[in-house]
Amino acid sequence: MKKITIAIDGFSSTGKSTIAKKLAKSLGYIYVDSGAMYRGVTYFAMQQGFIKDGILDKTALVNSLDQIDLQFKFVAGANIEKPIRTLAVSQQVSPVATVPEVREKLVALQQAMGIQKGVVMDGRDIGTVVFPEAELKLYLTASADTRAHRRYKELIDRGDKVHFDAVLKNVQERDYIDSHRATSPLKKAEGAVEIDNSDMGLEEQFERILSHANALIAF
Ligand code: C5P
Repeated sequence: MKKITIAIDGFSSTGKSTIAKKLAKSLGYIYVDSGAMYRGVTYFAMQQGFIKDGILDKTALVNSLDQIDLQFKFVAGANIEKPIRTLAVSQQVSPVATVPEVREKLVALQQAMGIQKGVVMDGRDIGTVVFPEAELKLYLTASADTRAHRRYKELIDRGDKVHFDAVLKNVQERDYIDSHRATSPLKKAEGAVEIDNSDMGLEEQFERILSHANALIAF
């Protein structure tokens, strides 16, 4: 059966990864969480002491990029799945993601992962930069408040001690940096289907998106 590429972009906590995982499972495609890769680099930079008092030493990070053995869930052999999701990493990731050399490295890895199609990838620049030729592009949106509540619940459910106001502030700051940076800012890709899911359940969204995908696969 014909395989397609599905690119999902949107601000943080718009439910991209939940939809992307469900879609990949249902179609038998691979799922790539590109945000986890930026978080992995950020975690590495923090571990190396390249971020002090919120200030990133870009030169030190760029000079060390070749040393990062960035596999899906591991940096230098350590499982980073949990630490990369903390608020501390969320607070540093957007500045790290503005560094052109970081983006160049990660985009090349992402493009290699999708070379055979049959991939669902979510992020901020997937439909615009990583896979501009993707057959299906989605742009998910929801209000900042709705998204901050979702992220707050996720953090509290996993036992993190955070305040809602700090989570909301982080969501707003990342929205701003992600959509205003010079290299590959977040924007709706040409031809992308926009879905505002502030008041939409997962099943409804999923059915809508799956029918778009099936129409393209059958075409
Ligand atoms: O998707 P997630 O919220 O985990 O992404 C974390 C951060 O990584 C984003 O706020 C953004 O700064 C960066 N990112 C990016 N490009 C992507 C994916 C994520 O700049 N394709």
